[in-house]
Amino acid sequence: MRAMLLDQPRRPLREAALADPDPAAGQVLLRVAVCGVCRTDLHVADGDLTEPKLPLVLGHEIVGRVVASGPGAGRFRDGDRVGVPWLGWTCGTCGYCRSGRENLCDRARFTGYQLDGGYAEFAVADERFCFPIPQGYPDAEAAPLLCAGLIGYRALVAAGDAERLGIYGFGAAAHIIAQVARHQGRRVFAFTRAGDDAAQRFARELGAEWAGPSDQSPPEPLDAALLFAPVGALVPAALRAVVKGGVVVCAGIHMSDIPAFSYGLLWGERVVRSVANLTRKDAEDFLRVAPTVPVRTSVEPFALSAANQALDRLRRGELHGAAVLVP
Ligand SMILES: [Zn+2]
Ligand SMILES: [Zn+2]
Repeated sequence: MRAMLLDQPRRPLREAALADPDPAAGQVLLRVAVCGVCRTDLHVADGDLTEPKLPLVLGHEIVGRVVASGPGAGRFRDGDRVGVPWLGWTCGTCGYCRSGRENLCDRARFTGYQLDGGYAEFAVADERFCFPIPQGYPDAEAAPLLCAGLIGYRALVAAGDAERLGIYGFGAAAHIIAQVARHQGRRVFAFTRAGDDAAQRFARELGAEWAGPSDQSPPEPLDAALLFAPVGALVPAALRAVVKGGVVVCAGIHMSDIPAFSYGLLWGERVVRSVANLTRKDAEDFLRVAPTVPVRTSVEPFALSAANQALDRLRRGELHGAAVLVP
């Protein structure tokens, strides 16, 4: 099969011909229809995340169709359309796994990081960590739901019942979660890089009542803020923007250092927290919610062989919505 391979971080992906993978016990073999490009892929390719398997096939927003099942795998039939997210395997026995927090499992393995992902014509996945894709979503439009959508949704849940919601970084996750937030009756305030008029326009189209640069104060205080931009300086900025008792949720897997800030910004029971990875329940919950909104995703397709261009565009902040690779 054709695949785009990461040999070493900080090097472009290389187009390679690999043997088609064989589904092991409990796994399904998928013909990849599309694979979304996530900011986490960029962090792996750029060496910010330091423990990838190498060489590695990136990609953890896989939409594919089952073409074979390994020994003991019987959850899906050939032809079923399924999605494969970031969480690829957990131990099932540790304290985290047994308390509904498998996202924190120390032995968890992640798709497109410790397990080969979807920048390829075929992929294998543990069937217990695959999800049926809701009907009504074309393949490409479904891909961003699988990470941008469901990790964004986990971040939104962490914001509690906040009515005035700030969203910092208006990319793939934000464009999905803004729709869910509006559907829930929340008010959305979008923060982008200074001068990114296109992103601000995009945010307003998706229901943000205000959109402006991230160094500016919102027109009124926020009840919570979600940070999707990997910029540590936004943490004190967001704390400054939220009311007492407000929560600032850091949703990215990697962030530049957070500058020192005065305790006064945290005082008043403000909370800073992260969300890490996802649980299978997050995926089930979000994939049930998405069609009821209904969440519409904005995607830009690239040929599989153009994966490096898609990553470059994401790195430069030139994508509005989500890039997807089509083998
Ligand atoms: Zn575990
Ligand atoms: Zn992701």
